[in-house]
Amino acid sequence: MTAELLCPWESPVFLFFSSNVPSLVHYSHAVAFVTLLVFCSFIFFSNTRSLVGRLVFWFSIVLSLWIFIDVILWSTNRPDLVMFGWSLQILLEPIVYALIFYILYTYFRQSFPGIYLNIFIALLLLPIILLLPTSLTVVDLPLSYCEATEGFLASHYSYFVNLTLLGLAVIYSIIFIKQTRVTNKYRAGLYLLSAFTLFALTFTGFNIVSTITGDWTLSQYGLFSIPIFALLLGYAIIEFNAFNGRQFSVKLIVLALWLSVGSLLFIVQSDVGRIITFFTLAFTILTGYFLIKSVSKEIEQKRLAQSLATELAGVNMRLERLDKMKSEFVSIASHQLRSPLTSVRGYISMIIEGSYGEVNPKVKEVLTHVSDASRHMALSIEDYLNVSRIEAGNMKYEIADYDLKKLVKEVVVELVPVAEKKGIKLEFKPATEECVAVKLDIGKSRQIVQNLIDNALKYTKDTGTITVVVRKDIQAKKAYVDVIDQGIGISPEGLKTLFQKFERAKNANEINVTGTGLGLYIARTMANGMGGDITVASEGEGKGSTFTFVMPLNGIEAKWN
Ligand code: ADP
Repeated sequence: MTAELLCPWESPVFLFFSSNVPSLVHYSHAVAFVTLLVFCSFIFFSNTRSLVGRLVFWFSIVLSLWIFIDVILWSTNRPDLVMFGWSLQILLEPIVYALIFYILYTYFRQSFPGIYLNIFIALLLLPIILLLPTSLTVVDLPLSYCEATEGFLASHYSYFVNLTLLGLAVIYSIIFIKQTRVTNKYRAGLYLLSAFTLFALTFTGFNIVSTITGDWTLSQYGLFSIPIFALLLGYAIIEFNAFNGRQFSVKLIVLALWLSVGSLLFIVQSDVGRIITFFTLAFTILTGYFLIKSVSKEIEQKRLAQSLATELAGVNMRLERLDKMKSEFVSIASHQLRSPLTSVRGYISMIIEGSYGEVNPKVKEVLTHVSDASRHMALSIEDYLNVSRIEAGNMKYEIADYDLKKLVKEVVVELVPVAEKKGIKLEFKPATEECVAVKLDIGKSRQIVQNLIDNALKYTKDTGTITVVVRKDIQAKKAYVDVIDQGIGISPEGLKTLFQKFERAKNANEINVTGTGLGLYIARTMANGMGGDITVASEGEGKGSTFTFVMPLNGIEAKWN
């Protein structure tokens, strides 16, 4: 090759450095190139098996190649090399855009485009591939400044192809985004779409401007969007695991970025370039530091939450098994306690009544205590049995039409002697003359009312009145049984937990009555099982309480009138 056939500047040193290269070109190209390589290795090492991940990998490789060729185009003084590199770039550009299309399409659709789309894209690319070595691509290469005069294919058609592919990618993405629910995949998709659109618009935009003005220094500005592009994409990958790859340590990526940008200080030769690189490095260190801090914290929290969730699921399963075992045990134990206790209670009452001969008053008194205690015991056993039935889902309801007023009256009459013994007045005050027809399980409803009056008796210290009211509200279609006492009352905190299993208020323990904390839980569950409820009101400790058993009215009360 003779000297006359060379471009008018010296041969480059190390392929890249010659006086024809504007000072900013090294910087813009090096940053973009290094960022893409870091990105590429990140995807490679994150071991992604997804098609999108692999496409992004190839996208980065093709684009890095384009950047690599571009620096050589600036530095070399060999026209043949410029000619070759220029044409190659014109081929690579539409490939970059086709890859963008495939990346976005496969990401949102989770599958490769169908045959027609592929044929369409192949037809778009075909003229460029076939006509690349002709004058339709590069018309001329004036030796005075060694820049190609582009032919129709390069100056018009290739931009048309690029923008068509980008347009297709954006349109498909938007269609898919609209059909997707807001999930992590959706969010990652938005980042992906913005990253690629930003890159593609700046890249082609500045190339078009350069083609029009003939000033190719302008085209390098498009490359400045690559670090932002990589950050957006990196964020989508790390934060949303967009490519289903192994979570790659963000620390490693940032460290690689620091090292690569740092090493530019030694590559970039111009002073301006070095100063800018220095500031870029400072900026990268700062943002990298915050990125590491925030992302690793989040990843750690996610990991912790995930391991806690798995652990909890295990514990939960064990607890459920234990709970079932406990219920079975309680049920068996209670059944076996109940029958002997029934006969013990039967014999005691017969002895007290004198069925086995005259009983000395002292012994009678002691036996009465034994009888009371065994009644408590029987009630507790009944509670445990009921709880195990509830938990096993074995609580059965035999629903019948019944007069709730009659039922309540019967219970009150039974309990009056018990109240009298305690010095408490128990009175029944129906608020209606009519009967109160309700569909209910008679046995269970008796148990509920009994439990509420029993409690009122238990939690009233010495004297006082317990009033039991039965009323109905035709409009609301509801029947109510109020058990109003003047006893120890309930604090606002106590009111919140009263109906939970084993819950007893503090003041209940203070007055030293025996109890399991199961009665109200069982009563409310039974009421709910019959379509009703139990509510409570109390103005506070020492101010008495009102428990109300609510049931839906049947609407056929005329039957008993
Ligand atoms: P137990 O009476 O066996 O403790 P319950 O489930 O019947 O269990 O009642 C739960 C708690 O509700 C009681 O321990 C007591 O603190 C409170 N309580 C229930 N009825 C009354 C009442 N009439 N007055 C005050 N506190 C009550």
